[in-house]
Amino acid sequence: MTESLKIALSKGRILEEGLPLLAKAGIVPREDPAKSRKLILDTNLDNVQLVIIRAADVPTYVQYGAADLGMAGKDVLMEYGGDGLYELLDLKIAVCRLMVAEPAKLAQQDDPKKWTRLRIATKYPAITRRHFAAKGIQTDIIKLYGSMELAPLVGLSDRIVDLVGTGKTLKANGLVEVEHIADISAWLVANKASMKMKHAAVKGLVDRLASAIPGRP
Ligand code: ATP
Ligand code: MG
Repeated sequence: MTESLKIALSKGRILEEGLPLLAKAGIVPREDPAKSRKLILDTNLDNVQLVIIRAADVPTYVQYGAADLGMAGKDVLMEYGGDGLYELLDLKIAVCRLMVAEPAKLAQQDDPKKWTRLRIATKYPAITRRHFAAKGIQTDIIKLYGSMELAPLVGLSDRIVDLVGTGKTLKANGLVEVEHIADISAWLVANKASMKMKHAAVKGLVDRLASAIPGRP
């Protein structure tokens, strides 16, 4: 008998770009996750189910074995931290970058080399603190859950740390990128016990996904 596998992924971008990847790997949910209200979805494969959760919760589900595998943005993984799960495969989807941004007007007379203390609004307090601490820069961090671009416009912070895809949202709000923190894409992560206990099933699925990754034949 083949071991059963649960794959955790989030609605939004990861699902949009992850579903075609899964389909290419031969895994198709029995109903459309974007439309269904179900949180556990069966697929065409008897032993594979998809679990639909919030993006930031994927590492937690996988670390604790509630899902064997997951698709999570590198941003989410960096913020989650620790070594409680395996990062198996760069899926090369949901590609963007994590940046420091500030109002264009501030950028005109700002010199990142002279930063000593910054007030930053972000969804990524751990990454932000770590990034600047490594450079000896102190940070006052304001934790937000979304719409970071608004913060400098209303005086909540001078700068933000946020994901940038096309840069359109920044531009529309008069912000410019001033420092690059990391290149981001979604990764396939695995529960450590599942890697041992369900080795054959996990390896089979990882191999299928690996050959479905964009840019590979
Ligand atoms: P929630 O809606 O639950 O708060 P979220 O806003 O993080 O979650 P998405 O916007 O779908 O959900 O983002 C999920 C992941 O997609 C992010 O963690 C990141 O890795 C990636 N991502 C986010 N924004 C972009 C972007 N502009 N371009 C490409 N990938 C992105
Ligand atoms: Mg979002």
